[in-house]
Amino acid sequence: MAEISVKINGQEVQIEKGKTLLQACEELGIDVPTLCYHPRVAIEGACRLCMVEDKKSGQLIASCTLEADDGMEIETESPRVVEARKLVLDLLLASHDVDCFACERNGDCRLQDYSYRYGIERTAFPGERREFPIDNQNPFFERDYNRCIQCGLCVRACHEIPQAGAIDFANRGFSSEIATPFNVPLEDSTCVFCGMCVELCPVGALVPRLDRFTGRPWEIEKVRTTCAYCGVGCQIELNVNEDRVVGISGYGESEPNYGDLCVKGKFGWDYIHHPERLTAPLVRKEGKLVPTSWEEALDYTARKFKEIKEEHGGDALGGLTSAKCTNEENYLFQKFVRAALATHNVDHCARL
Ligand code: SF4
Ligand code: SF4
Ligand code: SF4
Repeated sequence: MAEISVKINGQEVQIEKGKTLLQACEELGIDVPTLCYHPRVAIEGACRLCMVEDKKSGQLIASCTLEADDGMEIETESPRVVEARKLVLDLLLASHDVDCFACERNGDCRLQDYSYRYGIERTAFPGERREFPIDNQNPFFERDYNRCIQCGLCVRACHEIPQAGAIDFANRGFSSEIATPFNVPLEDSTCVFCGMCVELCPVGALVPRLDRFTGRPWEIEKVRTTCAYCGVGCQIELNVNEDRVVGISGYGESEPNYGDLCVKGKFGWDYIHHPERLTAPLVRKEGKLVPTSWEEALDYTARKFKEIKEEHGGDALGGLTSAKCTNEENYLFQKFVRAALATHNVDHCARL
């Protein structure tokens, strides 16, 4: 692969031809602020916050969009770059509901971080602002477009990852907004509630409903595990606060899902602490299911299997196992059905 040489903040770096200036900065460990960039989706160059200065031409360039060229000399924090970034942030804050106190993303918000980094206390452009009703009709996540910075990450995520095409930019200029076709409720659109828009949103405009008021980002411990819903084995991170699961994020660094989840994996975690969750086996006594010990439940089941087999033969029994079990557990299950129950009546939910 051909390599080129670029100088960034006086440091020389050799990078693969075809990489962008932003990627070159990443290779040198230089933090260039971005709001509309995410490696999972197409580059748009919408926010203009990643601007850097080309020393030779004197131009300000959006580093996420421009391919690095051999011999380029770039400054990432020159006075002109800093001024330009301040203006971008100032304009974004002019139409932003800065209410960090009540916002779920407080402490994990790139708009907040960059405003602090560049010393912006409040916008220099106070004026008319659009007010959006908060959409919390769907059961999974809240949409508060008063906090939207129109970076378009949710739109690209929706079109490129689940390919649902449920949302897009609507209208133009001051009236532009993120919307479903004809502004129908999200639950009546083609949305599959994968939550990718929520995962990629850099601010507090899209927030899972169940996660609200369950802990600040710095209080959350991430625990890597495997989703328990089906046999795909998606890698997830449990968001844990004081020994309680308060949310789930896709784990982006590993197969099979590289951060993608379905609606169950992303939003269906409230069963974990549900008060009606079964915590002990149940045996029917006098027509009612009552909690019992594992010893009693297993003895009862074994006795019933034996009685049925003796009275009606093994083919009166059957076993259905689950994609939620491991391969080893499924192997043992079919072995048990064939060898102990004496029947080939065994199947698996993933084959149906
Ligand atoms: S999105 Fe960020 S800047 Fe806006 S209110 Fe929330 S934390 Fe504050
Ligand atoms: S949840 Fe998934 S399908 Fe629905 S709008 Fe967001 S990205 Fe699109
Ligand atoms: S909702 Fe979030 S991801 Fe979508 S455009 Fe607004 S800020 Fe960007």
